[in-house]
Amino acid sequence: MNYIVLDLEWNQSPSGKEDSVEHLPFEIIEIGAVKLDGDMRYLGEFHRLVRPQVYRKMHFKILEVTHMDMEELKSEGRPFYDVMEEFLAWCGEEEYRFCTWGSMDLTELQRNMAYHEVENPFPRPFLYYDVQKLYWLQYGNGRNKLSLDQAVQEQGLLEDRPFHRALDDAFYTGKVLAVLDMEQFGSYVSVDYYLLPRCREEEFSLQFPDYSKYVSREFENREDIMKEKNLTDMVCIKCRRMLRKKIRWFPYGQRFYLCLALCPEHGYMRGKIRVKKSEQDRQYAVKIIKAASEEDIELLDQRKEDVRRKRSGRGHSLKNGQ
Ligand SMILES: [Zn+2]
Repeated sequence: MNYIVLDLEWNQSPSGKEDSVEHLPFEIIEIGAVKLDGDMRYLGEFHRLVRPQVYRKMHFKILEVTHMDMEELKSEGRPFYDVMEEFLAWCGEEEYRFCTWGSMDLTELQRNMAYHEVENPFPRPFLYYDVQKLYWLQYGNGRNKLSLDQAVQEQGLLEDRPFHRALDDAFYTGKVLAVLDMEQFGSYVSVDYYLLPRCREEEFSLQFPDYSKYVSREFENREDIMKEKNLTDMVCIKCRRMLRKKIRWFPYGQRFYLCLALCPEHGYMRGKIRVKKSEQDRQYAVKIIKAASEEDIELLDQRKEDVRRKRSGRGHSLKNGQ
């Protein structure tokens, strides 16, 4: 399998969010990518400027970071539709996986594709490597995630080329990818949530060494989500056995549900459902199951108690108001 290491530069509404086009907050102005084979050998590169068709002035921050000039983009850039066709052809027929620094690029790429009516050829689930996350897993040691420049410095990979242009950043991201221990960390794939399962049959579960992840289709509201057995089931991450719940799912804040279950062989497992807003302004859910430590169990108990107290407190004040 090849790796397509991708980096995008984009512009945004120069006058702020109010003037932002719906479903296109970021307009891609540059695509850079390098192709590596399964042994991280360099196979080639792709670079194009994109002619802006939505935001015709540079946002000052983008200008500051990329030093990209609108006049250059207008004269050298080509329409997104054409660039994308060339890019997908360049990616090739051989199986490949995208690699990006951070988790934004593939979503923004697909938003731009939808806006320009480029057919979306990507698979569901759309798996990729977030190299920033993999780097953090291998070298994090409790630190925050590093920026690309920081990781490049730390690994002594700096060359005589700048940062913050698409091809240079793709090049450096590829360099960082090549120093990672993929035997150990290659199982930590990320999934892009732009394309969601369209029906129950397309819902999927990913198994990682220390947790599992389940991604649902879209729903009207979170009450409907919590009626779904596939989502509320607790399954052991070690033996895949269906588990008995010790603390049933309860809402925590506006977007979370928590739960605790017990595997007779592997101990306590905690469940967390996060409700997220989809591109279509509907709701979907991501369930994570992990082994629970004593601390986790205590924290869960406490949160459950907090929620109970808040509820009874609200009931009390209502009565007083009557
Ligand atoms: Zn088990």
